Amino acid sequence: MPLLAANWKMNPTNVDDALDLVRGVMSVARGHADRIEIAIFPPFPWLLPVSDLLVESGVKLGAQDCFWEKSGAYTGEVSPEMLKGLCQWVIVGHSERRLYLNETDEMVAKKTAAGLGAELGVIMCVGELLDHYDEGRSDEIVSAQVRAGLALCSADDSARLVIAYEPVWAIGSGRNADPEHAYKTMRLIRRIVGEMIGAGAARKVRILYGGSVKGNNVQQYVELPLCDGVLVGGASLDADEFAQIVRVTSEVYGQR
Ligand code: PEP
Repeated sequence: MPLLAANWKMNPTNVDDALDLVRGVMSVARGHADRIEIAIFPPFPWLLPVSDLLVESGVKLGAQDCFWEKSGAYTGEVSPEMLKGLCQWVIVGHSERRLYLNETDEMVAKKTAAGLGAELGVIMCVGELLDHYDEGRSDEIVSAQVRAGLALCSADDSARLVIAYEPVWAIGSGRNADPEHAYKTMRLIRRIVGEMIGAGAARKVRILYGGSVKGNNVQQYVELPLCDGVLVGGASLDADEFAQIVRVTSEVYGQR
């Protein structure tokens, strides 16, 4: 089933706005839950109230990050074990964390393995910077990130593993990637998954596109043969815009 993941980043700043947004998502999700999996990723403090509201809605819940250890002296960190009862999903390796918090491929690999080990679904994000793209180095950068990120994974993990291809220059910039570029990179990612953890896994792992996805451009990505959905940031904070993304995605996959 395709996945539509809504990364709220560090928004909204109060719980009432978060719950209003959840109500908007739930009302649009109702008619489409049989065709697409919808998961929302609010900031940590809103996970508990949001999870209460989502009960029996069919909408899944995820965290925007996790640590790799189960417990211990790691001030400020949250383990996958702690998320497990609350969430079905976790995002790791988002470019904003790689960029502002110096997360390395090795850290992303440990987080990916820890999330999967706690039986969460894991969305591992990869993507090249604008300089890399301009220099024609997208394949090289993305390949290295995928290889390093999967270093601790096995084929058993593939049903709960998602890789989001998010060119960093497309995130929050309004400059969404050319679908042809997205397609070629997603094809490359699937090939590397096959090399790393086997052909069966390469079929099962879902691959998303992310980067300035909106209601008026989502169709060109979800129509791509190898695309299993989208990771949406800014547009997921606007209930009407997100509803449009849900409707278009559901229609495209309904016709497959
Ligand atoms: C993201 O945060 O992963 C993202 C893709 O953001 P945006 O849709 O705003 O580009």
